[in-house]
Amino acid sequence: MRNIKRIFVVILAIYMIFSLAGCEYIMESESKAVTNENLEVHFIDVGQADSILIKKGNESMLIDAGNNADGDLVVNYLQKQNINKLKYVIGTHPHEDHIGGLDDVIDNFEIEKVIMPNAIATTKTFEDVLDSISKKSLSITKPKVGNSYDLNGAEFIILAPNGENYSSLNDYSVVVKLINGNNSFLFTGDAEELSEKEILTNNKRLLKSDVLKVGHHGSVTSTSQDFLDAVDPSAAVISSETGNSYGHPHKEILERLTKKGVDMYRTDSQGTIIMESDGKTINFNDKELFTYDASPKPQVIISELDKVGEIVTIKNDSSEDINLEGWRLLSVTGNQEYIFPDYALKGNATATITSGERQGDLIWGSENIWNNSKSDPAVLYDKDGNEVFRFDD
Ligand SMILES: [Zn+2]
Repeated sequence: MRNIKRIFVVILAIYMIFSLAGCEYIMESESKAVTNENLEVHFIDVGQADSILIKKGNESMLIDAGNNADGDLVVNYLQKQNINKLKYVIGTHPHEDHIGGLDDVIDNFEIEKVIMPNAIATTKTFEDVLDSISKKSLSITKPKVGNSYDLNGAEFIILAPNGENYSSLNDYSVVVKLINGNNSFLFTGDAEELSEKEILTNNKRLLKSDVLKVGHHGSVTSTSQDFLDAVDPSAAVISSETGNSYGHPHKEILERLTKKGVDMYRTDSQGTIIMESDGKTINFNDKELFTYDASPKPQVIISELDKVGEIVTIKNDSSEDINLEGWRLLSVTGNQEYIFPDYALKGNATATITSGERQGDLIWGSENIWNNSKSDPAVLYDKDGNEVFRFDD
């Protein structure tokens, strides 16, 4: 009898362990649920101009609408895609090759939100767009850096313009980063080096993207090396026309992209380019273009440098724990170096490295390290000596 009881208790315990484990498994699989509607990005061939349609399920948005003469082409293209409503329309900046066909688009579709920068052009093209907007009693939403918008589960964030007054209209370009699961696209309009620098200053860590719509049709005014390095794309798309009078794309930019090993796509030689993202993989014409690496490189950033307080805050931007043993933190001006001990920085967690009198998570030493009277950048290296992050104070 005692034995039977014992067997019963053991069976009950095994049952409880399995049912708990099963419960956990279900919870985990539910939290990983992703929308099964793929995101499509259509770089419409509008010659020497830009027009990009983004579609996810029954929600769509349009970034630019080609030249004046492209109005019908863009409208037809959208209709063929069974679109009757655009959740967002972005006119990146008031040049004809971006907003030319926008009046036709606004006239022909139901529009929810129009995003345009605080810039004007004294052209009939620009007036036509304003007329179409007012005819539909729409208002213009000014882009605000950091604002994000939902497109059926995908999201785009405004990264530029960061300023109010630019000598070039191109620098007013609305720059957006579109994120679909682990895939991302950066649309830069015609933003030039000045705007690129401002994005680097304000939101460098958001720039990394799988696909870059190359700025200003591949002109040397844009895609500066620092910017390209921060975006670090796998693929780039250039929207331009064969034999255009500007010589776009410029050979310097083609060389810069080639040197970086970026796959290039061009509307001038390939026509309309369609990419599809399921949140993990981006496909191009049914060909696998880019697959999200399941084991992403460790991403640790310096999120704050308090030189007076002698506190450096680092953040693990990935969800994986990262052991920092052998990593180094450098105070550039004093050329002082801190070598990390065996320390696991949890996924998405922060840690402080303190010097002087402070007691942080990690202690550099009792000496003050940071130069308060002049510039003293902080640079973080991984154990292989690769620069992981630089914080310019
Ligand atoms: Zn342009």
